[in-house]
Amino acid sequence: MSITSIDKEYVAGTYGRFPVEIVSGKGSILVDSGGKEYIDMGSGIGVTAFGTADEQWLAAVTAQLGKLQHTSNLYYTEPCALLAKALCEKTGMKKVFFSNSGAEANECAIKVARKYSAEKKGADCYTVVTLLNSFHGRTLTTLSATGQEHFHKLFNPLTPGFVHVPANDTAVLEQTVAAVNPAAVMLECVQGEGGVVPLNAQFVQAAAKLCQENDIPLIIDEVQTGNGRTGKLYAYQHFGIRPDVVSTAKGLGGGLPIGATLMSEKVQNVLGPGDHGSTYGGNPVASAGALNVISRIDDALLAEVNAKSAYIFQQLSGAEGIESVTGMGLMIGIKTVKPARDILMACMDQGVLCLTAKDKLRLLPALNIPMEHLEKAIAVIKAACK
Ligand SMILES: *Cc1c(COP(=O)(O)O)cnc(C)c1O
Repeated sequence: MSITSIDKEYVAGTYGRFPVEIVSGKGSILVDSGGKEYIDMGSGIGVTAFGTADEQWLAAVTAQLGKLQHTSNLYYTEPCALLAKALCEKTGMKKVFFSNSGAEANECAIKVARKYSAEKKGADCYTVVTLLNSFHGRTLTTLSATGQEHFHKLFNPLTPGFVHVPANDTAVLEQTVAAVNPAAVMLECVQGEGGVVPLNAQFVQAAAKLCQENDIPLIIDEVQTGNGRTGKLYAYQHFGIRPDVVSTAKGLGGGLPIGATLMSEKVQNVLGPGDHGSTYGGNPVASAGALNVISRIDDALLAEVNAKSAYIFQQLSGAEGIESVTGMGLMIGIKTVKPARDILMACMDQGVLCLTAKDKLRLLPALNIPMEHLEKAIAVIKAACK
């Protein structure tokens, strides 16, 4: 039996998988069970920040794996402590809670905001304002936060206390905040699953100001945009704002599951003993990998990300069959004349793996994708769009 037929028989049918069995890889190259090579323009949905089986990341992870793979959070471990220190030193945030995924990082963010607001403003201050077209995860509460109806339909009743407002409409946000007395405002600076749509700077800054003036925790969901993806360590840093809570995951672990919720001075002591927890959270192996990833996202790497981004925009903007190119850094959405899925399939055939987001083609290559691979992939995508 093939991998595909076993998977189809035994794995829950939640994914519309493409007809490719990936068996190995190196850097930005993936290899399928037939030996065919692909240039990886998706990096496992923005997860393998330094590509597949990156030497430095692998060394950090395997060294830790041979020493101590898990302890639970009953004890102190070095990788978890050092990762929290690195994240705080690089962002100015004060404390970190570790979990295993983006959804969990957001669950924690919401718990922090609700507890902060309930203690300060009363038990009925629990509503979280999020944006239409957002994506915050698949658990029932993060699904409730997600402002896209089609994810909700089959899973009612959802967690109460979420309202969605249109992105980039400051007036509606102000009216909503005045009307619902929210416990938090939560947003992605670039809506990823929503089609790689960056928010207006004026809107993000107005939201931050509104939150600050009304003592409302501002949660920035950096699950996809974080960890160098947009050309800064975190995307909020493009906007000159200071969020109260930042959630991240995906690229942080470089390929192992980890989520992190960063808390500013204002909310750093909200969670106390027993308020939250995770058996795996801060796992030594995942943390050692993440520490390697975070320590390598420096100015030189970010300059490289921005140069590659400029190359992609320059190559694809205005090209035949391409209506628009959006995004920041190496988080790119391409509105194509032909259906994005057809382009994706044509690229796959030509040995280039891309993603889609809504009706767009989406690219999230490794931050260190070699220029020769990037050039080849962009040429294939460009040809497929014609
Ligand atoms: C992927 C994603 C999530 C969910 O992350 P999981 O690790 O799949 O739980 C949440 N928010 C954003 C912005 C994402 O892109």
